[in-house]
Amino acid sequence: MASMTSSDGATICVVVGRTRHKMMQIEIQEAGKRGARLIEVRLDFLAKAPDFGRLLEIKPCPMIATVRRAPDGGRWSGTEEERLVLLRQAIAAGFDWVDLETDVIDSVPRFKDVKRIVSYHNLREIPDDIEDIHAGMCRQDADVVKIAVTAHHPTDVVYMLDLIRNSPKPLVGICMGELGVASRILGGRAGAPFTYAAFNRERSMAPGMLTFDDMRKVYHYEEVNATTTVYGVIGDPVAHSLSPLIHNRSFRELGINAVYVPFRVPRGELPLFLKEFQAVPVQGYSVTLPHKETAATLPGEKDTVVAAIHAANTLLRNENGWRLSNTDVPAAADSIRAALSPDDAHPADLQAHTALILGAGGVARAVAHALHREGAAVIIANRTLERAQRLAEETGCRVAEWATRHNVTCDMLINCTSVGMYPNMDESPVHHSALKPGLFVFETIYTPEQTLLVKEAKARECKVLTGVDMFVRQAALQFELFTGRQAPLEVMRTVVRRALSPVAIRDEG
Ligand code: NAP
Repeated sequence: MASMTSSDGATICVVVGRTRHKMMQIEIQEAGKRGARLIEVRLDFLAKAPDFGRLLEIKPCPMIATVRRAPDGGRWSGTEEERLVLLRQAIAAGFDWVDLETDVIDSVPRFKDVKRIVSYHNLREIPDDIEDIHAGMCRQDADVVKIAVTAHHPTDVVYMLDLIRNSPKPLVGICMGELGVASRILGGRAGAPFTYAAFNRERSMAPGMLTFDDMRKVYHYEEVNATTTVYGVIGDPVAHSLSPLIHNRSFRELGINAVYVPFRVPRGELPLFLKEFQAVPVQGYSVTLPHKETAATLPGEKDTVVAAIHAANTLLRNENGWRLSNTDVPAAADSIRAALSPDDAHPADLQAHTALILGAGGVARAVAHALHREGAAVIIANRTLERAQRLAEETGCRVAEWATRHNVTCDMLINCTSVGMYPNMDESPVHHSALKPGLFVFETIYTPEQTLLVKEAKARECKVLTGVDMFVRQAALQFELFTGRQAPLEVMRTVVRRALSPVAIRDEG
């Protein structure tokens, strides 16, 4: 029998749970083909009594038998007595591992070389007596201890990683829920023998569980080890951020042993989060909504852009605390310059241009500052006039009323509103008649890349720049701050465009 022990390093256990044997078999085989080294078979999902022969005859790697009760997050609807009988049968039938909850493991004797996981689940919280529970589980007759509890704060992850690190027995410690996703990615780095992942996106088996493909292809979980440097993105929401895709792919491209993790941090929790995660430590962060302004107030060295616009999107740890940077502003300027003059030897001079910016939110602010710094004339039109006036005052720009936006004379039109963004893709912030041939149209939206504005501007022979370039450039500048290496811009572009393909967007939606 092939074994899976903690000395093998971090392994991904693929969780398979279907109501029909046929589908269960297909997924077990497919998981094997995709490279699974451990599979958990969720027998509680089966609509009929399990036929162990059918499940085990196609076993591509070690398999865990689990029959999860409803209060622990499972679907088992029979009696507890029947469940224990089923578990004993699974052990005898040839499963390599069995998952036994902490309250039942003592009543199920060890059988031959079948390995045992003692598990504890709490779908509500991390109970106050978790350390006692953990200590008790470590004394039970098991090879691996599994604790899956529910995170209420992002800092719960730090606690869990500590528990894993100091556990006398191999511990798979998981904080469930979106706030705990980092525990799933960083568990192996702290010493967890394995983590759990869903067979596919439609069948996540527990709150916050990532897919096998994401764990392997985005986070490279099996290669994350104690020496892996950690970076991440802080935001709320953060689940659909493309930043983990871009940065992890780029680390790989350059052979850098680092992992980039999404951290959902609710508004107001940034300072505490940063303090607690020093223990990991995390070397650098991308910062997104709603934390950019708070990030700019952190103690540390600020670059000139942060000092001017009071918004930081990058934090890099240094000996004095944090180095605070803003890569949105230079990325906006670089993007526009490159689109106007792709020839690096003759960079475009933005002083000769007049830009109409639609919108006065975060992106408008970065673009307005960028253009103002480059000496362009800037006019801001926003649905809410006061917001436009505030931004204009801050950047020394002019304001136009939203209703008059079609009459403004300009040679650059920049959409910084969210009009046209997924899922409202049949909307545009301007009537197509305002799109004259030769007008430079910069659409900052990148979900989707081909917005209605982009399509209409192209059809009317405008010069068009989409939001992907600015997005990739701000990430590339962050990558360079993080690593001191030149970012693989083309790789980054490809990764983003692939993720933004219509099929991928539909899947995410
Ligand atoms: P934000 O701060 O929430 O600002 C949204 C802006 O859109 C505001 O000016 C808002 O006007 C305006 N708006 C929303 N709905 C509107 C409507 N129905 N009609 C007219 N105006 C409307 O958002 P943000 O962070 O600036 O992001 C804006 C867009 O930029 C997003 O769609 C995002 O995809 C894109 N983005 C691009 C990049 C990049 O690197 N390319 C980075 C981040 C974001 P009010 O002030 O009147 O509400």
